[in-house]
Amino acid sequence: MLNVKDRQLYLNKLGFYAGKIDGIEGDKTRRAYKTLQKKYFTRESDIDGVYGINTDKLLLNAKRVQYRTPNFKLEEFKCECGGKYCTGYPSYLDRNLLNNLQGLRDEYNSPMIITSGMRCQKYNDSLVGSIPNSKHTKGKAVDFYGTLTNTKVKRQDIINKWHKKTNANYAYSDTPNMGTSVHVDVK
Ligand SMILES: [Zn+2]
Repeated sequence: MLNVKDRQLYLNKLGFYAGKIDGIEGDKTRRAYKTLQKKYFTRESDIDGVYGINTDKLLLNAKRVQYRTPNFKLEEFKCECGGKYCTGYPSYLDRNLLNNLQGLRDEYNSPMIITSGMRCQKYNDSLVGSIPNSKHTKGKAVDFYGTLTNTKVKRQDIINKWHKKTNANYAYSDTPNMGTSVHVDVK
């Protein structure tokens, strides 16, 4: 987990903390944890002002999305179980996934709508046709669509581009129920 000084630094950069960056976990720091939790967590029980593993995932993900993926918001990657099984941010978002995604956004200069980002295991397993070890459960996969994916030729072009990106693992489209979305993931 992040040390207290880094937590303060990131919370400050994200606009949740205006106190000293001194590595001391005082009231102001704990209040900032809670403000961060309030903004992103769905379940009341997760908003406790205590810095545990779930808050660590949340803070690091918030920072990564802001820095590596300026065209996207953290909420767009949220698990869709709606707080039924998880906080909404069950894993650490992979850096390469975010960098590559922003790379596509820049190349096409066209909005991308994320239909599936992070998934907790239980939510993933509840989806028809999902595989148990889906990269979505590891913060390493995203499905998206937009005008950049609205024809099969365009989707294939994106798939080809993805396979040349850093640490790219797999990309596909046009399976049942996918509509015009493209799935991309990293190793
Ligand atoms: Zn979930």
